[in-house]
Amino acid sequence: STNRKPLIAGNWKMNMTHLEAIALVQNIDFRLPNKYFDKVDVTVIPPFTDIRSVQTIVDGDKLLLTYGAQDLSAHDSGAYTGEISGAFLAKLGCTYVVVGHSERRTYHDETNEVVVAKTKAALRHELTPIVCIGEGLEVREAGEHIAYNTEQLKGSLAGLSAEEIAKTVIAYEPVWAIGTGRVASADDAQEVCAAVRATIVELAGDAVADKIRILYGGSVNAKNIGDLIAQADVDGALVGGASLKAEEFATLSAIA
Ligand code: PEP
Repeated sequence: STNRKPLIAGNWKMNMTHLEAIALVQNIDFRLPNKYFDKVDVTVIPPFTDIRSVQTIVDGDKLLLTYGAQDLSAHDSGAYTGEISGAFLAKLGCTYVVVGHSERRTYHDETNEVVVAKTKAALRHELTPIVCIGEGLEVREAGEHIAYNTEQLKGSLAGLSAEEIAKTVIAYEPVWAIGTGRVASADDAQEVCAAVRATIVELAGDAVADKIRILYGGSVNAKNIGDLIAQADVDGALVGGASLKAEEFATLSAIA
């Protein structure tokens, strides 16, 4: 992570009402003094219905935390019932938007083509897409994880210019590690994150690859973040379960 500022992103998934969200954000802030924000970017990614409340707290109390969304539509407006536009998220002050999380790929059949369209939608509205990739257990056990992730990354960034790729964050999240308590070893996380950076060199050149942030995700907690963040190509974490506990999330953010 040498010259790159780490990013810790808390993916709340489908948890927390807007009232619970207010309490959680206040609690995280209380445990994370401003001095930490010089060395780490910390963001929370709540459900859509919480974002307006989170914005009110962050703006009102001048918090250094940022926030984002878990998904967005590939379209900007119109007859897409139930969808949320990047324009709305930008207007609410979102910094990040997660794109292509494995739960969306699996339960909502999001293909790489959809991921590309959503990534472009995010960039149109000056949101930073956190583009997720990651192999399942069968691929890992077959020893094909490098080829799989390289291909999924290329598919998820297909047609993007080097300038556009430079504005993204990549999250490597092995599916077998998400929500399972089975964190990847620091070596395994580093191996794939290094392969991701090598692929970015191919797609967008050395300068972009040197600057882009690559996160690891999958059962990250306050105990294992230290080893992960110490790896050369791991620039932070996408955190699910542990991001719902203020003390743990603040502690792991402070360590990163
Ligand atoms: C995630 O869903 O992005 C994630 C990493 O979840 P968890 O930390 O709970 O494994």
